[in-house]
Amino acid sequence: MADTSHTENIVCPHCKYEDTDSWESQADEGYEDCGECGQEFWYSRHVQITYSTSIPEKSSAERRVELAERNQRFIADFQAYTAARGVSNG
Ligand SMILES: [Zn+2]
Repeated sequence: MADTSHTENIVCPHCKYEDTDSWESQADEGYEDCGECGQEFWYSRHVQITYSTSIPEKSSAERRVELAERNQRFIADFQAYTAARGVSNG
């Protein structure tokens, strides 16, 4: 009897049919009818969470300065835009 737990795809516990479209199953768990034998079974999806880290290219102080400069540019652009609009619209 083939193992049907922690498989790469959903494997029917009745007939061992492997559903290669398992990703189409929307919910992380639920009842499904086998596409091969038609019998109902319960499945649950196991999601493995992993983490990645990297050393930032810029320090947090440098990032804060960049953000402030970007905000100032945005405000200046907005003021220029409203000023130009005010003139053209009379
Ligand atoms: Zn089946």
